[in-house]
Order: sequence, then structure tokens, then C-alpha cells
Amino acid sequence: MTRMYIGFDDTDSPRMGCTTYVAAILVEKLQRLGALFTDYPNLVRLNPNVPWKTRGNGALCLRVKCNEKLVEEIKDTVIKEVEENADLGYDGTDPGVVFLVNHIPKQVRAFAKRTIQGVVKLKEALKLVDNSEAEAVGFKKGRGIIGGFAAIGENLEEDHTYEIIAYRTPENRGRPRRIEQSSIVEMDERTSPLTFNNIDPGTSRVLITPRGPDPILYGIRGENPCAVRRAHQIVHSEEPVERWVIFRTNHGTDAHLRSVGSISEVDPFNPVAVQGLVARGPKVITGGHVIFTIRDKTGKIDCAAYEPTGTLQAVARKLVGGDLVEVYGGVRPPSSEYPITINLEKMRILKLAPTVVLHNPMCPRCGRRMKSMGLKKGFRCEKCGFRSSRLEKVAVEHKRNLDPKIYVTSPKSQRHLTKPLCRYGKEKSGVPKKMIGDWHFP
Ligand code: ZN
Repeated sequence: MTRMYIGFDDTDSPRMGCTTYVAAILVEKLQRLGALFTDYPNLVRLNPNVPWKTRGNGALCLRVKCNEKLVEEIKDTVIKEVEENADLGYDGTDPGVVFLVNHIPKQVRAFAKRTIQGVVKLKEALKLVDNSEAEAVGFKKGRGIIGGFAAIGENLEEDHTYEIIAYRTPENRGRPRRIEQSSIVEMDERTSPLTFNNIDPGTSRVLITPRGPDPILYGIRGENPCAVRRAHQIVHSEEPVERWVIFRTNHGTDAHLRSVGSISEVDPFNPVAVQGLVARGPKVITGGHVIFTIRDKTGKIDCAAYEPTGTLQAVARKLVGGDLVEVYGGVRPPSSEYPITINLEKMRILKLAPTVVLHNPMCPRCGRRMKSMGLKKGFRCEKCGFRSSRLEKVAVEHKRNLDPKIYVTSPKSQRHLTKPLCRYGKEKSGVPKKMIGDWHFP
């Protein structure tokens, strides 16, 4: 038996398609050919902070075992499906397919990490083709080869989650999605927190359905295959489901965030996690966005909370100079208007600076709060007339309405990769040893 790794990316456009749909079709076709899936199709989200990303920036990898005689037929089938389903007429859709057999070289794994946390060039991906046993097929500019390699190299051995995606029949695509709302609420009640981000708690907005013309009816995210399949059984769709597949993904894992030791290591387009002291308190700018600056001994950097009504913005408003925080998010390069800025996805308050308020002293004679007679001139009691030049203001610690903990942007604003609060403590590792029986249809 030959092990095959099939990676592909960048088939969709804002006006049509979805690379996961190509994967869903291939699941059916490759199984029919006699290929044996050794893992759920992997849906790997790449760095959301790159300047040229595709819509969701998700790449796919299918991992199968097959008779050696099947290898060529499988390759032909994959290339044909990618070609047929890609929006090749759209400027900026540049599909790519990568095939690897038996062994994933170390440099492909390292490359994958960099596509999730940093910025890589197509040139580097093409070099990988030369330096490994990989075969790659690119359409147009072939930029999808980058994602193809990344999805193969990232085998999701570390923290991962699952998503069941149900697809619409062709005649319904582009029309409003018809799903019984109450069944989504019921699904959420019965399956969360083993499923997550179904409904935004603040606005009650349904998050499992996309809005665009793509073929996705809905996607439900969760901690294990059984949980998402069960959730899918509870949701009642009023339109037919053409097919569904369970994917294994890096959604909700923070895989894009690279922890750096100092502010000087923060680079544009490379999402980070970095600590610093609040140097300048929050400033509210047009649109209700909040900006503050953090510093350490290597430098300083602006941080922005962009969500006018969200948790992070409310927390950012309460920061004061001297608070120790860890900030997480994408990094925007400097522009003519703004310096380099971290766009917050989450923030951990590590230590609150003590904030002290100075009060006038109490009158030692009658207990009333005294009045100041001017700078360094002492205090006077208005009630009993007692005066003193030796009394001083009393320092009172001001209670901060802020807890030292992690704050995450609300589910409706979270990126695919952002780890939601409910996932903390649920991190897992290792690839599944066995797959559940029905992980796809048909
Ligand atoms: Zn008095």
C-alpha cells in the first residue's frame, strides 16, 4: 500500500466556490476508486495576516492509503476536480495541488509552520518541489501550491478541533440559507461546549452559516467528531443537503500566534503574542476604536482594539499606565497615518498597576473630612474650625474594575484560528488512531 498526501488550495473566489467543497467531492470520488482515508480531511487555516490571502485562507490535505496502481488515477481525479471547481476566471484565484507519497520531509513540516505564523513566497514553495519528492501542479500563478504544501506539512499533531460542513445543492447557492433557527439554538444548548461558536452570545447572531454565494450551508465546530456529527443531526435544514464531511482543523487553536520575548521581535504581517507594560493609557479614536501603547526595554508598540461594542475594547479602555499585559493579534505595518500596530484578538491582564487616589485627611477632632487651604498650606475643618499644617493627604488604593485574566474578542469577531475562551483547558495532541464510521455523506 502506498501512502498519499494530497494538498491543495486557492480554488475559490469571493463570488463562488470553496476549497473545502472540492475536498468533499474528492472524498466521495477517491473512496469509490478504492482509496482508504487514514485521517479526516485536514482543513488548515494559514496566517490570516498575510497581505494577499484568499477569503478564509484555508488549505486542504487528504491523507489516503491505496494500491500503488491507483496512484496515477488518483492524481488525475484530483487535478480534474480542482480544475472543474476552481474559479479560474477570477483574477487572484491561483489554484495549486501538491502530491507527496509515503513520507513527509522535515522541511515541508517547517514550511507549514511558517505559512501559519509568517509570510512565505511562492518561490520558496517551488524550491520545495525541487528539493523533495513532491509533485506540484499550479494553475495560473499557482500560488495555491503554498497552501498545498502547508496542509500536507501541518499534520495537526498538536491542538486541533473538528468541523462538520454541510453543502447546498447547486440550485440553492446564492439564495438565502433556509435552516430552522430554533434547531440551531437547540443544537447549541445540547452540544456546547463540545461544540463552540454556534451563536454569538452578545447579539444572538447565528455563526454557523456563512453569508456568501459559496456552497456551504453551515459548518459546526467542535472538540471531537462525534460531537459535531451529533450537532449536525439536531440542526434541521429546510433545504436539501447535497453532502457533508467532517474535517480535522486548526480552528480555534491560536496556531497562528507566535510567542515572542520582546517587542523588538514583532514584525508586520506576523501574528504575535507579546508582553509589555502599558506606557500610555487608552485613546478612543473615530469609530469607537481604542488604541494604547505598550513598552518593554527593547521598544514600544501600539495596540488597537477595533470592535466598538466588544469585550476587548471595554477592557482596553480601563487600562492605565504601568499595567502588565500580554497582547495577541495580527500586526499591521506602519502607514503614513499610524505606526506599526498590533490588532488585538485577545489580551491577558497579568498585573494591574496599583492606582492610588489621594484624599484629604479626616479631622482628628470631629471626624469630618477636612478642606485644603492650598498647596502645602495644610488643612482646615469647616465644621469645628480645627487647622493643621502637619496633616497630609491620605493615599487610598483605588479599586480597579478589571480582573487579571484573559479577555477574548467576542465570537462574532473571532478569526478562524482564534482560540475561544471555552476551549481553554480542552487542548489536545496526537492524531486520531481511529476514525468514526460515518464521517461523510455520500
Ligand atoms: Zn473638625
